[in-house]
Amino acid sequence: MSERKTLEQLTDGELHISHSQISTYQNCSLKYFFRYVEGRKAESVNISVTVGSSIHTALATLYRSIKANHTEPLEAITETFKTCLSLDIENSELPIIYSKTTPDKESAIAMGVKMLEVFYNTVNIGDYSVVDVELPLSAQLYTHEGKPTDFKLVGIIDLLLKSPSGDLLVVDFKTASKSISKTAVDEDTQLTAYSYLLASNKFITSTSDIECQYCVLLKTKEPKIQQISTIRTRSDRRRFAKIANVVLAAIDAKIFMPVQSWLCSSCDYSTICKKW
Ligand code: SF4
Repeated sequence: MSERKTLEQLTDGELHISHSQISTYQNCSLKYFFRYVEGRKAESVNISVTVGSSIHTALATLYRSIKANHTEPLEAITETFKTCLSLDIENSELPIIYSKTTPDKESAIAMGVKMLEVFYNTVNIGDYSVVDVELPLSAQLYTHEGKPTDFKLVGIIDLLLKSPSGDLLVVDFKTASKSISKTAVDEDTQLTAYSYLLASNKFITSTSDIECQYCVLLKTKEPKIQQISTIRTRSDRRRFAKIANVVLAAIDAKIFMPVQSWLCSSCDYSTICKKW
């Protein structure tokens, strides 16, 4: 995490919104209110979030080493993960909620190490080169009609690769307990947000398509890797701008309400939500 630029550094005091904020609002505007308007601390943190964050750090270490032409061995990557997870657990200000499959710190470490071993032995970038790792980007948010707004869109791309012919590939790492469908990836707005940021920062032209990929580390009994590719186009970016601006208008109008869904079972604010 230490080398990862924070979103606060990216925004430099300007009005900004991230994909994470947009999707939080879309999933449950009351949760958005608790987190981003009230700035309320979460009531607890799920171990899956802590494991996912430490896996991201370990993978960033791996791809930074590949970029520097000295690929770290598997042992160094798993050590990074173990250290990061142990520190996060020990220093957590919030109670950690463990799960059936990972009921304690040791089992969480064992699961993460297994996932990384499978990843390391399965995934390679072939003849692609690493352009950047955990790339922080920001760009002025426009309306879908091309009018500038006062807001910046901000985001951090996990991994940006380049093919021998010069085409870019955006890779987003996920950890999940079950497979993700191709339809979900095709409709995912996080990748569209990254495509918007890359086009705005002239990594691609405003009319170009870009290939994106979900690389999912599955927390199944025997961990597996799922790689799902998708394309983002100019019209996807336009639609995303429309969504972002509607969300901003709804926030400005103070529209916040609970949205009961399967996400409530892992919500950080379930106690305060009941009192709403
Ligand atoms: S518990 Fe459910 S409805 Fe309440 S804030 Fe969380 S996600 Fe929203």
